[in-house]
Amino acid sequence: MRMNHFFLCILIITTTIFSLPTQSKAATDSQRNIALHDRTLSFQEDEVRLVNSQMIVPLEKMARYLYADIVKTADQILVTKNNTSISYHYRTKETKVNGITEIANPVIVIDDVLFMPIRFLGESTGFKVDYLTNILTARLYTDTYPHLSHSEFIKKVTKEKQPIQKPSPPSDQPTVYLTFDDGPNRYTSDNLRILKEYNVKATFFFVGSQINHFKSLTSQTFQDGHYLGLHSMTHNRNKLYVSSKAFLGEMRTEAELIKNLTGHTSVLVRAPYGSSPYVTPAMRDALKSGGYKLWDWDVDTVDWKINDAEYQEIINNVKKGVEKARLAKDQHIVILLHDRSQTTKALPAIIEWLQKSGYSIQPYNPNQHVTQNFGNHSGI
Ligand SMILES: [Zn+2]
Repeated sequence: MRMNHFFLCILIITTTIFSLPTQSKAATDSQRNIALHDRTLSFQEDEVRLVNSQMIVPLEKMARYLYADIVKTADQILVTKNNTSISYHYRTKETKVNGITEIANPVIVIDDVLFMPIRFLGESTGFKVDYLTNILTARLYTDTYPHLSHSEFIKKVTKEKQPIQKPSPPSDQPTVYLTFDDGPNRYTSDNLRILKEYNVKATFFFVGSQINHFKSLTSQTFQDGHYLGLHSMTHNRNKLYVSSKAFLGEMRTEAELIKNLTGHTSVLVRAPYGSSPYVTPAMRDALKSGGYKLWDWDVDTVDWKINDAEYQEIINNVKKGVEKARLAKDQHIVILLHDRSQTTKALPAIIEWLQKSGYSIQPYNPNQHVTQNFGNHSGI
């Protein structure tokens, strides 16, 4: 706590305006940043600007970082988060918050991009916003989500800016595979955005019936470089597992669907609910003769039953599970995740931890198939 006071003394947190620091800072550190809890968001230098002593950011991009709902029509853009709706009307140039016109209009249009003061956007949508002068960062946070204190956060950011002296990670660290089941759905695009931000490729096991509702999202997932696996058409254990004909039929239909949409030939099956006890020896043989492979997982994050506020638990489950598999000398560690909102919240920290620990994160590679099923059956 004493350290906190010390840092608070050197911190100037402006409560009304964001002022420009003086020239005492090194010139190379002049970029202003936006942080959300413990993460510094990725913005270009000219996206975070200072106008009329206020730090402004592109409205739509920032709204996406806040996981706000965004609805755009020809007349207006509507951003909704935590029961607050902010709208901007292109014709009248009016900004409304919950339907009431903001007289001091906070929207600034630069090169056809709508900018909004970060304090206005953050505070209107339920965040606290503090300006950390010595790292030129506006930090958004809520008390309900766990996060570092300001002084700890500044220490973390300052440390990350130091030239990297870490020895390169030991080459015997296992490869880790992030796998996402049960999409595509409305959370898939958030996961894709985060994966892109970290330049990480993953494996998605989409459900065929969902693909029909999210065709462009399916194509985008493939174009982003992720592997599209098979997870049945129905995900219904009463239909899927009645016979090996039904089981193989659903996988074949889904493979065709993916092929028609993307041109990708998918060979990797993840059995809904896991291969044991549902996948019978006859189903296994049918898969094998159809040229398919079967992947279960090493680390079950149970993310599907963890609620949004407790997403930290998902991160802990990954850390525990991966460490356990590494100690058991597993060279290929497969993590089970889902396209859900709580998983999206946990994903940046999961990737950061894996990368910091020296793991290489890879998508499934059919040319270097590794056996990964509960029964350890080879050749599949
Ligand atoms: Zn599933």
